[in-house]
Amino acid sequence: MAYATTNPFTNEQIKVFPNATDAEIDTALDSAHNAFLSWRTTSFAERAKVMQKAADILRANIDEYSKLLTLEMGKVFGEAKAETELSAAIFEYYAKNAEKLLAPEELPVANRDEGRAKVIHQPLGVLLAVEPWNFPFYQVARIIAPQLSAGNTVVLKHASNVPQCAAAMDKLMIEAGLPKGAFQNLYPTHDQVSRILADHRVCGLALTGSEGAGSRLAAEAGQALKKCTMELGGADAFIVLEDADLEKTVKWAVFGRHWNAGQVCVSSKRMIIVDAVYDEFMKQYRDGVAKLKMGDPMDPATTLAPLSSQKAADDLKKQVEGAVAAGAKAEEIPLEMPNAGAFFRPVILTDVKDGNPAMREEFFGPVSMIFRVKDEAEAVRMANDSPYGLGGSVFTKDEARGVRVAEQIETGMVFVNHPTMVKADLPFGGVLRSGFGRELIGLGIKEFVNHKLVDVVDIDAPF
Ligand code: NAP
Repeated sequence: MAYATTNPFTNEQIKVFPNATDAEIDTALDSAHNAFLSWRTTSFAERAKVMQKAADILRANIDEYSKLLTLEMGKVFGEAKAETELSAAIFEYYAKNAEKLLAPEELPVANRDEGRAKVIHQPLGVLLAVEPWNFPFYQVARIIAPQLSAGNTVVLKHASNVPQCAAAMDKLMIEAGLPKGAFQNLYPTHDQVSRILADHRVCGLALTGSEGAGSRLAAEAGQALKKCTMELGGADAFIVLEDADLEKTVKWAVFGRHWNAGQVCVSSKRMIIVDAVYDEFMKQYRDGVAKLKMGDPMDPATTLAPLSSQKAADDLKKQVEGAVAAGAKAEEIPLEMPNAGAFFRPVILTDVKDGNPAMREEFFGPVSMIFRVKDEAEAVRMANDSPYGLGGSVFTKDEARGVRVAEQIETGMVFVNHPTMVKADLPFGGVLRSGFGRELIGLGIKEFVNHKLVDVVDIDAPF
């Protein structure tokens, strides 16, 4: 796909960017490899200085950066600013914590003095990051802040509809003082991405995106025997038990399904409501969704943005039609909608039964699937009846019960009384078809390091 900026609010194409040539890619990989050879020798303090500077620049220019997000993928400006701040918080987190997170670990070994065997964590080399458009800065920060802090270098292939956001991250890191080559944005074709991954100078892949891209590139990484992490799609359950605070729960449900126009891997895509409160939940949820306001994403009054592209809106419409053809009921909430732009009126899907393809799909937009279940046990069974395993939430006034339910849900993250959330100091990642590996905190920074054993043994010790 060609790299281009198209404003989803107007559907107007603003600028097209040429693909990288093979020669440019070759030069970039040489430069990334050479940068690695010196960057890996820098101290944590030197790297922390760059990370903190990146955070400071983002914060000092938050409006300018955030406008780019809204321009290229359409999110409302308030959410764009929250994303820019979150990205800054991630850089700052690693500025403050990377050294501690990668500190050598001394191993107690039987019949030996303490402290002579240890695991040290050393960077691996050049990584390829393939990232999606839904959080153009956060997704990149989530990988480059930990990996650059660990001493790796990174080449980025960002989504083809956010080329200016990708270039802005490149410029940000140069301004923050990162040496030339240590982080580079490229505009490669899919075939060129495969060649980059296979190249001997590249040692690993971090991909966030769809199942399709994940399974293709994970297979190629496997073929080349390169470590990879996969952050893929999700269909998070949002369980409401009979003892939930319904009014507050409904507010979170409306938010959980509609922030970023519903285009979040951890959106609350499957609402699972116990029978005792189902009717009241539905009434309040419909009313809540009906209060959303579509419009110019730069207007502070707008709460529901356009989708990222007209194609995304058209594809989602077809997906809803498929669910209905297989027996689901679709209720469109009649919000006033601008005439132009990639807008999509919210839809509530009910009567989605076993065998309906919607049961196993991800709806990437404001489409809420709502299920009525008898009780807690059926809610857990329904939550786990999914190919995905990313996040999820359970709402109850009884926190111990919430934790008990959370422990039974087969995903990488479960929140009690909150939709799945993202924060600089919480880990992120899933299981099953949502992928493997973790990003953020200590788990993320340790994905692409050599956990090397160094053991000093008394020369006279027996084998
Ligand atoms: P996508 O089509 O898989 O695109 C993601 C990235 O992969 C883009 O940079 C895309 O580039 C690239 N790509 C796709 N196919 C490729 C191929 N064959 N070779 C090389 N690169 C390839 O995903 P999307 O539909 O835009 O994004 C939404 C998906 O991402 C959803 O499923 C969502 O749940 C998931 N997601 C997951 C997380 C998570 O952390 N788990 C976070 C956000 C989003 P092009 O743009 O050039 O095609």
